[in-house]
Amino acid sequence: KIPTTADIRRDFLEFFASRGHTIVPSASLVPGNDPTLLFTNSGMVPFKDVFLGAEKRSYVRAADVQRCLRAGGKHNDLDQVGYTARHHTFFEMLGNWSFGDYFKGDAIAWAWELLTGVWKIPAARLLVTVYHDDDEAYGIWRDVVGLPPERIIRIGDNKGAPYASDNFWQMADTGPCGPCTEIFYDHGAHIAGGPPGSPDEDGDRFIEIWNLVFMQFDRQPDGALLPLPAPCVDTGMGLERLAAVLQHVHGNYEIDLFQALIRKAGEFTNTTDLENKSLRVIADHIRACSFLIVDGVLPSNEGRGYVLRRIIRRALRHGWMLGVREPFFHKLVGTLDELMGAAYPELTRNRELVERALRAEEDRFAETLDSGMRIFDEIAARAVGSASSSAAPGDASAPHATIAGADAFRLYDTYGFPVDLTADIARERGLSVDMAGFDAAMAHQRETARAAGKFSSATGLPADLVARLQPTEFIGYEALTAGGLEVVA
Ligand code: ATP
Ligand code: MG
Ligand code: MG
Ligand code: MG
Repeated sequence: KIPTTADIRRDFLEFFASRGHTIVPSASLVPGNDPTLLFTNSGMVPFKDVFLGAEKRSYVRAADVQRCLRAGGKHNDLDQVGYTARHHTFFEMLGNWSFGDYFKGDAIAWAWELLTGVWKIPAARLLVTVYHDDDEAYGIWRDVVGLPPERIIRIGDNKGAPYASDNFWQMADTGPCGPCTEIFYDHGAHIAGGPPGSPDEDGDRFIEIWNLVFMQFDRQPDGALLPLPAPCVDTGMGLERLAAVLQHVHGNYEIDLFQALIRKAGEFTNTTDLENKSLRVIADHIRACSFLIVDGVLPSNEGRGYVLRRIIRRALRHGWMLGVREPFFHKLVGTLDELMGAAYPELTRNRELVERALRAEEDRFAETLDSGMRIFDEIAARAVGSASSSAAPGDASAPHATIAGADAFRLYDTYGFPVDLTADIARERGLSVDMAGFDAAMAHQRETARAAGKFSSATGLPADLVARLQPTEFIGYEALTAGGLEVVA
């Protein structure tokens, strides 16, 4: 029987519960313990203070399914969405944790047992990486698990290398850190991409499913690595990537949960081709936007609220590309609730709030989206024209057209196009945006506003309301019925 996403969540937690782990509920996407971090971007975030020794828990083994967002801040996968088979903005990370209890031997053996024993993933499809000098992890994979050496790849720091693998994890410049071992699934030679550590590792043939981090050092300000008295384990496995493997499909967007969302998105946008990239983007973005609102973030022009606004507007622009001219995005919240409400009751509880917040933002952007797209076309045509007229005669290479910073700023200022939205549209058409020019135009406008004494919060909201919105606590219905949502700039 092919497991559903819900089955996989449950199997994972049951497996670790039966090995002495306490099941911990998902924390918010807004980190409660770190004001410098925009979003919870991995399962580790809510446990940070436990690893630092600043917080004690009543357990030394835990397992969880943590909602994560990688859209803004240090981890940003927003630009990958719709382009790779494996990246979302919002995703769920399955994790098991040892706080000074078990270490590499158990962590690796259990990961292997769960993948190949419980879920019956063929061992021959799996390969792993270890940190280049982590002979202990290498030895466990080869001698205890019995993996052939050619499927155990040593990875270094790769500083300056043309590829991204880096099997050494650290929380910050100092403090807990240590080597990782990552487990990859080979989706088959018909898909482009090389094994981890090779120059074309970024393809989607070998997909990383599980990262096991072994915190065993405490890095000193002078760079020295002191052994931690009680090493810890931090693991993270992408639920959607695992579901793709267990459901015998390649991409995350082909799994049960995404197919259900995509079907509905197709219905609401009159799109029959369910492989359409825009439907995938919309399905990704409805999850990110809904859970952000559940966690107390509302669209605004600053901070977390602006990240939310950017994601919503990207989704709406994809709806527009599919020909939709009516609000549609908020209608997907009900479907999402049916799919994920059992795992996240907070979504069910806040469903109406989420719908209303999204609907308000749809109405707001509808006023400028259509004309903004027309302006974009004019700007793009001008950029292409000037690129080809400035190309040297006889130069066969395609002229590279760039949207001027001032034009991107106009789209932002008058039409409410966040610059990453403009850049995304430009990318689809093979153009780029002069980001430095955009920043300069933005700085200039701030200066002018300040000189004229008009400088206030960029939201243009009364300060008391801003004060209520900024801590991104859950706002509830009061703020909405008081008109809070309607006046958010
Ligand atoms: P990749 O190299 O594929 O971008 P990563 O190394 O950045 O992944 P980690 O930070 O190690 O990912 O996160 C742990 C796990 O979470 C990954 O092994 C993967 O299964 C999952 N994961 C990471 N980023 C995403 C994403 N954007 N969407 C879905 N799953 C993700
Ligand atoms: Mg990544
Ligand atoms: Mg990786
Ligand atoms: Mg990784």
